[in-house]
Amino acid sequence: MTYWLAVAVPTPAHSNLGEPLTYASDAALPPGSIVRVPLGQREVLGVVWNAADHPADDWRAKVRPIAGHFDGLPPLSGHWQQLIAFTARYYQRALGEVALAALPPQLRTLSTMQMARRLKRSPASKTDAAATLQPAQVLSPGQALALEQIEQQSGPFLLFGTTGSGKTEVYMQATARLLAHQPDAQALVLVPEINLTPQLEARFAARFGQTTCVSLHSGLTPAQRLKSWLAAHTGAARIVLGTRVAVLASMPNLKLIVVDEEHDPSYKQQEGARYSARDLALYRGKLTGAKVVLGSATPSLESWHASTPAADGGPGRYQRLAMPRRIGASGPADDAGLPRVRRIDMTRQPKGTLIAPPLLAAMAERVARGEQTLLLLNRRGWAPVLHCADCGWKSECPHCSAFRVFHKIDRTLRCHHCGLTQRVPRACPECGNLDIGTIGRGTEQLQEHLAELLTEVRRPDGSPARITRIDADSTRGKGQLEAQLAQVHAGDVDVLVGTQMIAKGHDFRRVTLVAAVQPDAALFSSDFRAPERLFALLMQAAGRAGRDAATSTRSEMWVQTHHPQHPLYEALKKHDYFAFATRQLQERAQAGLPPFSHLALLRAEGRSQAVAQNFLTALAHTAQQQLTAPEHPLAAAMRQIHWYPAVPLAVQRVANIERAQMLLESPSRVALQAVLAACQNLLHDLRAQPEHRALLRWAIDVDPLAV
Ligand code: ADP
Ligand code: ZN
Ligand code: ZN
Repeated sequence: MTYWLAVAVPTPAHSNLGEPLTYASDAALPPGSIVRVPLGQREVLGVVWNAADHPADDWRAKVRPIAGHFDGLPPLSGHWQQLIAFTARYYQRALGEVALAALPPQLRTLSTMQMARRLKRSPASKTDAAATLQPAQVLSPGQALALEQIEQQSGPFLLFGTTGSGKTEVYMQATARLLAHQPDAQALVLVPEINLTPQLEARFAARFGQTTCVSLHSGLTPAQRLKSWLAAHTGAARIVLGTRVAVLASMPNLKLIVVDEEHDPSYKQQEGARYSARDLALYRGKLTGAKVVLGSATPSLESWHASTPAADGGPGRYQRLAMPRRIGASGPADDAGLPRVRRIDMTRQPKGTLIAPPLLAAMAERVARGEQTLLLLNRRGWAPVLHCADCGWKSECPHCSAFRVFHKIDRTLRCHHCGLTQRVPRACPECGNLDIGTIGRGTEQLQEHLAELLTEVRRPDGSPARITRIDADSTRGKGQLEAQLAQVHAGDVDVLVGTQMIAKGHDFRRVTLVAAVQPDAALFSSDFRAPERLFALLMQAAGRAGRDAATSTRSEMWVQTHHPQHPLYEALKKHDYFAFATRQLQERAQAGLPPFSHLALLRAEGRSQAVAQNFLTALAHTAQQQLTAPEHPLAAAMRQIHWYPAVPLAVQRVANIERAQMLLESPSRVALQAVLAACQNLLHDLRAQPEHRALLRWAIDVDPLAV
């Protein structure tokens, strides 16, 4: 007997083959079965979506049989299928693409024999001997209250807890209680970045044992990733720790989802299906009945707004749990144990000052006491561009509308967009001037400059200060970041210079001074989320100081600024996220920006800017013509959409490809979704027209993070 199956397969993006394809099978495979099927000339992995209709007689003979399936591998659950279907629909991508992206890549290469062996090897659900595990901490009153709410209420929860208030302990104990009460239950803990997983892994493994927890992220080898995925899928792993991709993992008994640092932009995928793992976590929670805990010291304004209680005029959709005090804070009740914030007015410093003398003195004091300083640079605005003071030449990239950056280490000029690397010219290519130099300073130069400024300073044992730098360049090699962090933890470093990388999550015990050297650029950015990001970054950086209770009283955060009275810094000084968020939300409400409206970006790329923009403009025109007739089902939705004009991207040209975007805004998410879905077809039609032949590609970004 032949069974007809609708199978989700990875069709090429934008091929308009979004729906599952029909295949024939001798076995009655249930929905969620993973199969191997022919597609064109290739054999690909697919997921049985459901039973297909009996094909019409005339084309039954053309339906191809499946090529194989994995015996003994349980099918993916109906909930998982619903999650994938939602993700594809909401983010406007093909079902098969999303489904396959959620499976471990190694599955594609595995024969049915190999799979059978893997399944036999996968460990039975066993727990480590309790004696070797680390016991739970005695909770602070704030933690106990939060935990009690999480147990008793349905959520979703926003755990608004200062850095060091013990959020991780709350996640662990919520997980522990769940595992104790429900013999099969699973928990998923998401962190924003791969380099934060080892720390969290260590803490969870110490508490729950090695076999209970697995990690799932793109830094694993394909074999490790498959192993973790199988453990989660079969239920052998009770806890999955992972980055955003883990939100789509198969976890049949998922009962708790934690999203740590929920405000972090890394939760948004930046290519393919541009999903937000945080938003999908909330959707998945609703779908499966899993409790969702979002945690942050500086929540996204979306989550903050959603958790504003109805009594205060908010939607009250999430339940806010506050833990304002650091663990071990010993001061008066209004002192959260956070470092004192000091602003240095750079308008009163000599022009071109990189590090103000009082800051230098404060650093020297730390070095002399054997304490550590952390100097924070935001990458943006800091790229060292080469320029000629005589003729004004700058190291522009010939292929991109961006400047190439000077890398001292190998004396190259590199484009951070297209990767073009060339040796630094000996003289100005325009006028031959030999005296060319850099404008703006990067972390490398700051490190050098500091070394000069601190030459006279001595550590308690009389030796000179040790300065190290952590950024994307210094940590490119495998294990380099871990090694550098270990040095900092061991106290082998006095001054740590770095980018946002060092501000996140790391528990530096000896840091008593954190300084932001030049944070102002974000205050006047064209991106409406820039202030929110800056505030989060600075609060997080401040949280690195004085984590050791013994030194927390003399911990400080310094900010060098040309705008010391700016409300953002005023709020920072008081560690007052509340004031910052309230003000920002008022501005967003006035400007009609998220969370008070919903956005989508349409992006187009072509050989010229006109090609890209014309394509987008043509879409807007076509939509206005075709979807707005009074009898059209989308007419009402169309009235709720504001179409902005097509514009070049901030970095408009990359590797000789011109990029343009068009923003759609609506007070209604539903209306926006309906119109976007209709746009898909219009875009395919337009693309097929001869006047848009030069268009290279297009993409839709729903709920974009940067506009
Ligand atoms: P957060 O995740 O909010 O930044 P952590 O959970 O990392 O905070 O806690 C900060 C520090 O306080 C950690 O070293 C942790 O082990 C410790 N800690 C957390 N909860 C307690 C507690 N109840 N008693 C003692 N120490 C605690
Ligand atoms: Zn010149
Ligand atoms: Zn370039």
